[in-house]
Amino acid sequence: HDDAPVVLQATDVVKSFKGLKALAGVSLTVRRAEIRGLVGPNGSGKTTLFNVLSGIHPPTSGTVEVLGTRSTTTPSYRLSLRGVARTFQNLRLFSLLSVRENVMMGVDRTKSRWSWRYIIRPISVLRADGRMRREADEILERYGLLSLADAVPSELSYGAQRRVEIARAMATKPKLLLLDEPAAGLNGDEVNQLKAIVNDIRATGVTVIIIEHNMGLVMSMCDRVTVLSTGKVIADGLPEDVGQSPEVIEAYLGD
Ligand code: ADP
Repeated sequence: HDDAPVVLQATDVVKSFKGLKALAGVSLTVRRAEIRGLVGPNGSGKTTLFNVLSGIHPPTSGTVEVLGTRSTTTPSYRLSLRGVARTFQNLRLFSLLSVRENVMMGVDRTKSRWSWRYIIRPISVLRADGRMRREADEILERYGLLSLADAVPSELSYGAQRRVEIARAMATKPKLLLLDEPAAGLNGDEVNQLKAIVNDIRATGVTVIIIEHNMGLVMSMCDRVTVLSTGKVIADGLPEDVGQSPEVIEAYLGD
């Protein structure tokens, strides 16, 4: 995979919050159709890195390039048009909308040029769009959610809600998918289902970066692993090599 095109290149990214360096010079290269694990103790900067990569926070210094285009200060709605999608550690589904409408919001995002349009576009307009509805239903079917399309998220199991979040992110047709602790709160069967979903997503050429706390899961799921500790990359490589690194073992024992 070492000759696959680079999808994400972060160089010396620093993010400070009132003097606290949440990221203290992080560099990262991720290639096409790779599944990359991002691990590290609590407070090591994983979520902050996702926030920078997805345009939620501009970095204090350093650069980010997505698909060869500099995106260091590109806001998240524009990055989503460029092919970056993410899910959140705490589910962020629209609670008053049905599962189908949640996914339609993702489909709509591929067409919206402006964030305000995305925000104010009335749901009644969305509901009346037959083509968008069909597109959403195809995606729901792919993720085993079609029978739940008319339910609101709170009527679903937690695992199914997590799947809706992934389905909505995939509806934006991303090239880079950022998953923030997608396995948190899932049971064993749901974790296996998640692994299959992530593999299917990768098989379509999408690059996936996954924040995950469970090292065992990362080892079995990811092609390469990046380990953060106090805002720095302390290891980066194949899961088996990273798992044996003394720095990594020490960082985890101190957690
Ligand atoms: P992780 O996801 O690895 O647990 P975070 O990226 O959430 O780590 O946090 C890294 C550090 O940055 C922590 O010390 C956290 O308190 C701090 N931090 C994160 N976001 C903010 C923010 N918006 N304001 C101030 N400090 C923050």
